[in-house]
Amino acid sequence: MPIGHGAHEDPALFHFDNTYARELPGASIAWKPAVVRAPRLLYLDRSMADELGADAAGRADADLAALLSGNVLPEGAEPIAQAYAGHQFGGFSPQLGDGRALLIGEVIDRHGRRRDIAFKGSGRTPFSRSGDGKAAVGPMLREVLIGEAMHALGIPTTRALAVVSTGELVYREQPLPGAVLTRVAASHLRVGTFQYFAARGDLDGLRRLAAYAVARHDPDLAGSPNPPLELLRAVARRQAALIAQWMGVGFIHGVMNTDNMTISGETIDYGPCAFMEAFDPEAVFSSIDHGGRYAYANQPLIARWNLARLAEALLPLMADPEDEAAVQRAVAEVTEVIDEFPRWYEARHLEVMRRKLGIDVPEPGGRPAGTDADDVALARDFLDLLQVQGVDFTLGWRRLSDAAAGDDNPLRALCRDPQAPTPWLARWRARCAAADAASTDTPGLPTRAERLRRANPWVIPRNHLVEDALAAASDRGDVAPFESLLAALRRPFDDAPEAEPYARPAPPELTAGYRTFCGT
Ligand code: AMP
Ligand code: MG
Repeated sequence: MPIGHGAHEDPALFHFDNTYARELPGASIAWKPAVVRAPRLLYLDRSMADELGADAAGRADADLAALLSGNVLPEGAEPIAQAYAGHQFGGFSPQLGDGRALLIGEVIDRHGRRRDIAFKGSGRTPFSRSGDGKAAVGPMLREVLIGEAMHALGIPTTRALAVVSTGELVYREQPLPGAVLTRVAASHLRVGTFQYFAARGDLDGLRRLAAYAVARHDPDLAGSPNPPLELLRAVARRQAALIAQWMGVGFIHGVMNTDNMTISGETIDYGPCAFMEAFDPEAVFSSIDHGGRYAYANQPLIARWNLARLAEALLPLMADPEDEAAVQRAVAEVTEVIDEFPRWYEARHLEVMRRKLGIDVPEPGGRPAGTDADDVALARDFLDLLQVQGVDFTLGWRRLSDAAAGDDNPLRALCRDPQAPTPWLARWRARCAAADAASTDTPGLPTRAERLRRANPWVIPRNHLVEDALAAASDRGDVAPFESLLAALRRPFDDAPEAEPYARPAPPELTAGYRTFCGT
């Protein structure tokens, strides 16, 4: 297949309908992916290709590699580098933008949802600054593993369609094999996209962007009296739900800069993220997060901080900056939303915790048997137990299903002092009994043990296993460990015996020294 700067167009792989480039002039720059030396398909999610209505079946891998590296632009692609700003670790950069990514187009998937198709690692753009615009095989396969794990855990996320190795080296601390990832997202609108227009004082651009975001993610709000305010509220609610879910699986994003927070409510940008092992609310893995700004327990606070930055960016749409009284009113309105956020988060987190505790049984009137305060305390005390007893976060929760089936020993065995869980277990059992007494008899409701197995995963992407799989792929070109790990991560709730090696915690000395790296 000829290789060129989009000179040759292949029959449609995707059926593109590119609204971003069309409707938001000034929000992006048309740009071409770099041509790569020897594209080779490392990973393709064929079922997702099908979901996207992509015509991948029957195409040779070499053709797909050419199309999914950008060497041959898929027909209808209109690649653009998106502009955005962002607060990075609290400091504002008025212009970040896609420095190593390109939105190549949008498709309507088989469920009627608009999805962005984007490349990551596709070469320099006008936003690259000192970066090379490239990505390495390891971090791109890492994005596949963690993103697919999140998806299987039921957590909103961007996803990877494909990874193509480029046959070129990228230079980090050492030379590494290069790759291009194809990312699929509900959109790539970020808090930082709004900040970009606000920082430039481009009110028309900001207005168009807000209208675009509403049309794309919250069409019901279009007719509301104050769409920017309602958009802020909708984003805040989605983020409250998202962060609550992260917290429920021990996920630490690692770089919650405002350019890495979506309007859609999807998790985006799998850089230095990691899942914690032994429960520690202070857990941080990122090598550049010296102050622990993005530590596990800080994530809800940071989400609120980021939403306050979104609120600031939206304010000029809500009030004429010259009109002091109107500005005051608008500030009061957005402040109310930002102040509500902790309550929305706590409510969603309590839902997550109730599910993980098996006390979310459907009850008449939809009210749980326990008070919110009691259930918050029950969850908090379980987490305290895990922390004090040095218990692996994932396995600690998972062993509640054994306890629900009458066997406390697997949970006790994880504790330094096997007697330590006794008082908590007694309280939990009393609470379960209250839930059962209050619940209507729901025919076909699975047992608590079964429900707990669906709420508390057995397999998460354990850092040491992820690193092993990536090293095999990156250093030796062996993708077999990556593929078996991915298969296990796709069934996180199953008790499959073959998944056992993937469920084991890392030796503590490995976890203690584990560091993740950004922008690699
Ligand atoms: P991230 O930390 O991945 O969210 O990226 C922050 C900013 O740095 C974004 O504008 C990225 O596009 C840019 N960036 C990250 N890595 C590179 C790279 N290798 N080359 C160019 N720009 C990059
Ligand atoms: Mg980013």
